[in-house]
Amino acid sequence: MTEYAEVIVDLSSEQVDRLFTYRVPEGMKLAPGQRVEVPFRTKSLEGFVIELRETTELDEKIIRPVLRVLEDYPAILPELVELAQWMKGKYHCNLVDGLRQMIPSQMRGGRVREKTVDVARLAVPAEEAEAALAADRRAPKRQEALRALIEGPKPVPFLNAIAPGAVKKLAQMGLAVIESSEVRRTPYAALTGSAAPDPELMPGQKAAVQRISQALDENGGRFLLHGVTGSGKTEVYIRVIRRAMAMGRGAIILVPEISLTPQMVDWFRRRFGGDAAVLHSRLSAGERFDEWKRIRSGEAKVVIGARSAVFAPLEKIGVIIVDEEHESSYISDKRPRYDARDIARWRCDHHGAALILGSATPSISTYMKAMPGVKPANRLELIEMNERVQGRALPEVEIVDMRAELVRGNRSIFSAALADALKDCLESGHQAILFINRRGYSTFVSCRACGYVERCDQCDVSMTYHQADGMLHCHYCGDMRLPPKICPKCGSKFIRYFGAGTQKVEEEVARLFPQARVSRMDIDTTGAKDAHEKILGAFRRGETQVLVGTQMIAKGLDFPNVTLVGVVAADLSLHVPDYRSVERTFQLITQVAGRAGRAEYPGRVVLQTYDPDHYGIQLAAKQDYRAFYFREEKMRRRGLYPPFTVLARLLVSSKSEDTARTVAKALEGRMNGLLDAHPDWRRDVVQMRALEAPLKLLRGEARWQVFIKMYARECADEVVSQMELLERQAFEGARVELEVNPNAML
Ligand SMILES: [Zn+2]
Ligand SMILES: [Zn+2]
Repeated sequence: MTEYAEVIVDLSSEQVDRLFTYRVPEGMKLAPGQRVEVPFRTKSLEGFVIELRETTELDEKIIRPVLRVLEDYPAILPELVELAQWMKGKYHCNLVDGLRQMIPSQMRGGRVREKTVDVARLAVPAEEAEAALAADRRAPKRQEALRALIEGPKPVPFLNAIAPGAVKKLAQMGLAVIESSEVRRTPYAALTGSAAPDPELMPGQKAAVQRISQALDENGGRFLLHGVTGSGKTEVYIRVIRRAMAMGRGAIILVPEISLTPQMVDWFRRRFGGDAAVLHSRLSAGERFDEWKRIRSGEAKVVIGARSAVFAPLEKIGVIIVDEEHESSYISDKRPRYDARDIARWRCDHHGAALILGSATPSISTYMKAMPGVKPANRLELIEMNERVQGRALPEVEIVDMRAELVRGNRSIFSAALADALKDCLESGHQAILFINRRGYSTFVSCRACGYVERCDQCDVSMTYHQADGMLHCHYCGDMRLPPKICPKCGSKFIRYFGAGTQKVEEEVARLFPQARVSRMDIDTTGAKDAHEKILGAFRRGETQVLVGTQMIAKGLDFPNVTLVGVVAADLSLHVPDYRSVERTFQLITQVAGRAGRAEYPGRVVLQTYDPDHYGIQLAAKQDYRAFYFREEKMRRRGLYPPFTVLARLLVSSKSEDTARTVAKALEGRMNGLLDAHPDWRRDVVQMRALEAPLKLLRGEARWQVFIKMYARECADEVVSQMELLERQAFEGARVELEVNPNAML
């Protein structure tokens, strides 16, 4: 009986985004989700078997056969094929774009496969080999190799080290056979520690574990776990995962890429041993593939990883955890632009699993879903943990008004309060973290005489001075140049450097406290492999006393000896032209303040700002998330910002400013046409227009946008779908990208 395979070819194009029928050659075993090689037009392509059928309406003669099977198992589980189909509908991508998320990218095109080693074993019973051994006295080395084989199978390289060529000879003599065997590349193989004992749970933790465990027994649930920094959310995750495992189910825990430090991974391995698999971008292609394979084969049941780990091929899922759920990195910036939280929710529904979104500072739109009045389909059950473990106090936060410092004549980047606190901290042998969310030394270079500011030629931004190489850097395109000695505009010599970044803070600490060892953590110091771990390791071991850094140091780090956190410029992120700037400032300050006082010593936080009365700063200092939520929600409702509205734009980039404008105007015209045809859509649109993007030049390209603001109702989805279709059309000389509620609309 002939069988037919319906295949999606691995080519991302709308033209081939449909099933193609192939004949399954006699003797070939196939299953849905399996990857195959098929003839396509004049070449051969990889493809995914979506379904198998016994009949076809097509003419038998034109159906070509599947050429070969790429793996002897379905790389994609049936559930994940279904998920890819759902993604196609939700994110308007091709089916293959969804399918590609489900496997390590290097599997495609055969760039990675199982690592194998040749292993020899006896081909005859041991007694027969013993007899041959006794007879073969002229070759002692070969005898030795054979003796080793009698003990058990050995890798060929090992035997060759005893006697080169001996295995080959033994094989020729019919005494041994050589087979290839799979070996695994285990990341962090060196980190296997002893199992850590379980800490005692706080009442809040206990209640959380109980409530979620109950949901595991009752076909799932969706939770927002809101716990203050240091409240022990991770321990709750671990207990829930154990519970799921005891029921024979697996777990996925998503964390922001930056938190996936070897410390975190090691700690997870200690608790879950070989059951845990880790997926993140710093793994080599081979390691990543091997970890994936361990999950696929059912060997690893707990997966910890960054965004894409949400697609891990676990067959039975009990719980999916999204830690630090407010992080923007959970939304993919490449097509398909999926939100890992949506994918997690889909998979939890499919498996009857529990979904846990965890954070000390949930995003406003997530927290809103845990408030009364939300439709049951969207609702999250709120679980709160308001106490730090072992009854530790939240650190005390002191707000320092930097305007008053200026009045007192202090022009330094450190207030008197922060300088004193740093002195006390170092003298008592503790450690400090200084946070400033800007890298480089000075943020701009300007002429005192005429106000000229040195800007990037390729981008509409000022350039940042880096002391390490003495160059001006563009943080958008990476362009570099020497700073001017005289003003290129007026010829004056009064060139000055303004604003502070991490490098300047580092230098200032070194100047004030010459004995203190300072390290800096930002994009510029963490380029090399393992650089993160080197910097953090030295800090953990106490080899450095002060750690200066950007938001990289705000999350998840747990250093018992840190008693002081200085937020050097709390309002840097406050006045960014973005509706989420206050939310983000609140999150950053709360997270970074939470790094202080995590062990028996109380923590102190000094928050420097030019805007001390701002509600974002005030409530962050009090670490009062709930009050902040109600205030911010009111602001959003009044200002018609998300989640009450949807903001979207079609961003047009072109080498030519004229083209960018023309295409944007044309897109605006098309949108207007659509809205005219659908009066109900038009009614939900608050605002729409074509205009220059706030960042009008980037990497040498002019940028225009069609911006639209709509009420967050059903029609918004329809309008966004139409915009997606417009995005996919080709425009001569211009690129068009759609962004929906983007992280920043520059
Ligand atoms: Zn000048
Ligand atoms: Zn630039």
